[in-house]
Amino acid sequence: MSWENNIRRVVPYVAGEQPQKQNVIKLNTNECPYPPAPEVEGVLRGFDCDTLRKYPDPDVQELREALAKRHGLDCGQVFVGVGSDDVLAMSFLTFFNSEKPVLFPDITYSFYDVWADLYKIPYECPPLDENFRIRKEDYMKENGGIVLANPNAPTGVCEAPSFFEEILRANSDSVVIVDEAYIDFGGESCVPLIERYENLLVVQTFSKSRSMAGMRIGYAMGSKKLIRFLNDVKFSFNSYTMNAVTIKAGVASVENEDYFKRITAKITATREYTKKRLAALDFVFPDSKTNFIFAAHQRVPAQELFDALRANEIYVRHWNKPRIADYLRISIGTDEEMETVLDFLEKYLKGKQKG
Ligand code: PMP
Repeated sequence: MSWENNIRRVVPYVAGEQPQKQNVIKLNTNECPYPPAPEVEGVLRGFDCDTLRKYPDPDVQELREALAKRHGLDCGQVFVGVGSDDVLAMSFLTFFNSEKPVLFPDITYSFYDVWADLYKIPYECPPLDENFRIRKEDYMKENGGIVLANPNAPTGVCEAPSFFEEILRANSDSVVIVDEAYIDFGGESCVPLIERYENLLVVQTFSKSRSMAGMRIGYAMGSKKLIRFLNDVKFSFNSYTMNAVTIKAGVASVENEDYFKRITAKITATREYTKKRLAALDFVFPDSKTNFIFAAHQRVPAQELFDALRANEIYVRHWNKPRIADYLRISIGTDEEMETVLDFLEKYLKGKQKG
């Protein structure tokens, strides 16, 4: 016998690499290439450090109110956490407590199975179809909860709210979580469905469209009842998840809607340009409504391209997993960064043709 027999053993999520070198082109973790709204910097520079003596507001009222106003909701319909990873982990713990399996696709955000394993939640992963689309029928059977990323990651495929409404209608006995980490790049949000479906939780983040991955802010929106259950678990775990600086910076970001619109439009335009160039280089990809493109080359293996890009200080993401090993997930950077990447790929692929 050993103390090791009592350990909760888990296989952790593996996040994309964070190279410490300067001057690399980092397109591997779907960060935003532009700075946050200027008011965020204003908050950080002007922050009154004396306020740090005190604990932050455990209810995160100010930020929840700002978010509620932006989404046309009541403050009691919003929950805030340390990135959407924190919000999702808390939601798994709160809402998925059944003997029946939780359902999420075989190809999706690879943290879902990690949380399910951590909390010993049974789960099943119905396969996406051959075009990486969710098959709704797979979510019409008995289950202990459903979690779907929309747009999905790493595929970039987006479905309309009506698609989720059908799933919601068939699942009044379980909580349905829609993870909208990438919704701000052209997708249509399920937030309006909250009024009609008490069991719908929509999760969003400041990490992509608000350029604040380093600040760690995520949030969930749902019926007051759902949010109350989520709060009960949060307050049984850690009352002060959101620090005082982050709360102020988050509010500053939400209040500058013009900047948010400008940045997301810019990334969307760069994505559309990148799609055209990639298609001309014989890449295939599902249509992306995110700040990344999930692309496979028709002749050259993804691992080879990944290695060649990396040798040239260009970081993208590749998974050596069934069904997706041919694909690279390329985050959308600045126009200049994308030009460099596309020029590199063009030269590399031409060089191969000659060779
Ligand atoms: N959901 C999806 C689908 C994601 O891709 C990510 C980013 N890795 C997250 C949630 C978590 O993002 P964050 O914790 O930075 O809000």
